[in-house]
Amino acid sequence: MLNYQEKITKTFELVVNSKFLVAFTGAGVSTESGIPDFRSKNGLWSRFRVVTLQEFLFDKEARKEFWRMRKELIGQLIKATPNKAHLCLAELEKMGFLKYIITQNIDRLHQLAGSQRVVELHGNNQEAHCLNCKKKYSIDDIYERLIKNEEDITCYLCKGIIKPKIVFFGEAMPQKEMSFAIEIANKCDLMFVIGSSLQVEPAASIPRIAYHSGAKLIFINKTETEWDFMAEVLFHDSAGKVMTDLLDMIKSSLR
Ligand SMILES: [Zn+2]
Repeated sequence: MLNYQEKITKTFELVVNSKFLVAFTGAGVSTESGIPDFRSKNGLWSRFRVVTLQEFLFDKEARKEFWRMRKELIGQLIKATPNKAHLCLAELEKMGFLKYIITQNIDRLHQLAGSQRVVELHGNNQEAHCLNCKKKYSIDDIYERLIKNEEDITCYLCKGIIKPKIVFFGEAMPQKEMSFAIEIANKCDLMFVIGSSLQVEPAASIPRIAYHSGAKLIFINKTETEWDFMAEVLFHDSAGKVMTDLLDMIKSSLR
């Protein structure tokens, strides 16, 4: 078993010798930004019912429940700022080491940190559109209406249902993003898996594809996952701390 410093050194060597480094991130990368994991004990899904796409489309009461949950979530997201893990990943991209981030998160914190190449598997919190006339709505507009206690957010123009650009339960993954993620998972030779317990399919299959195509995986999670055996280097630590220590080592090697 390697100690922490030895693991940082090994990760450093893997990163600087990699040809195509990709990061796969989940909710855990954003908890240090104050966004609780939906699945955690106090997460949103312990307090709100999960609304499927079918229910959202056809059941007004379910839609209201969805927007009640959403109101709280958007409130958390607009306050959140990128943490050290997001910032280090953005810097690794700028330095040319990191090629892409594939994320399960909808919080846009990677982009806020400065990352340019981000593949969003579950959509994002910023965009929404009317399912009927396709008019686009911004999250600020929707949040303002939620704060004014509107319960069912409909289109100003045609009264159609406004759907946020997120992947619902019971909804297929966005095809373009998913096939691109599979393509780069096959292509990469090194992948960071950060803050994801790999429980949500099919997104979680991405690290497995990388693993089976011969890539080395570096896991950075607070707790164990059932996929830890795939890790070449395994951290059960804060992602912000690991990424900061790694970036420091890379920077001092370049001096
Ligand atoms: Zn409309």
